[in-house]
Amino acid sequence: MEEDAAPRARDTGPVGGSHDELGPLAALLEDPGASAVLTDFDGTLAPIVPDPATASPLADAPGVLAALARRYALVAVVSGRPASFLADRLAAAGPSLRLFGAYGLEWIEDGTLHHAPEAEPWRAPVAQVVEGARSEFAGTAVGIEDKGCSVTVHWRQAPGEGARAREFARQWAGRTGLVLQPGRMAVEFRPPVGIDKGVVVERLARGCAAACFAGDDAGDLPAFAALDRLALEGTRTVRIAVGDEQTPPELVAAPDIVTAGPVGALALLRVLATGARR
Ligand SMILES: [Mg+2]
Repeated sequence: MEEDAAPRARDTGPVGGSHDELGPLAALLEDPGASAVLTDFDGTLAPIVPDPATASPLADAPGVLAALARRYALVAVVSGRPASFLADRLAAAGPSLRLFGAYGLEWIEDGTLHHAPEAEPWRAPVAQVVEGARSEFAGTAVGIEDKGCSVTVHWRQAPGEGARAREFARQWAGRTGLVLQPGRMAVEFRPPVGIDKGVVVERLARGCAAACFAGDDAGDLPAFAALDRLALEGTRTVRIAVGDEQTPPELVAAPDIVTAGPVGALALLRVLATGARR
């Protein structure tokens, strides 16, 4: 199992041979004081669980993030979750870890929760969707995660409701003007204000010597695209796809490194934290 979970560079086989196998990480290891380590949360630091409310990072993840934050110029978690949820789950990583929630619509700075002002007018439409979803899916195991400025409908515990949930999303997006971000057995309604993980990654990593982002889902593709834009400006970038059987094929199509699930991602982050290739 451990071997399966170890990170590997794409097309160069599993870890265990030469140092070249994690070659893409050299960009970060060479100048950590001028580099950024950015990562998703669910499916990347935390195993996917049937009830999203119970998701927790792998036990060692906060400690590894804290070690990264001591070594790198910038370390951040960029997630679809509420920033307060991330702060609760990752408190042990310490205050140097930057936290961005709701795909960048909120963040924690100096211990205070901040919201993107442009999303504020969309709270009423989000509340309408929350109410509509609670009515539509009353008595089912479909989950409705109200984040105030966005809302996610989850059907991991009610897989038979997936088609109805997608149809609900299509109708209510048209009705409210909110946009949809498909996820893994979930769909998120978001304000159409042009903020996504890519915007966050681009802002955070601009000017860095090197930057990486690790993610497992379609919502992470804008972060990969942001790295591609930064690469044109001279930043050395590493796109890390955290794969399992449910990872969207487009995410694992062309990353620089593929890891197997959160265990593999954490192994890779530990390499970055310690500077040891093995
Ligand atoms: Mg994820």
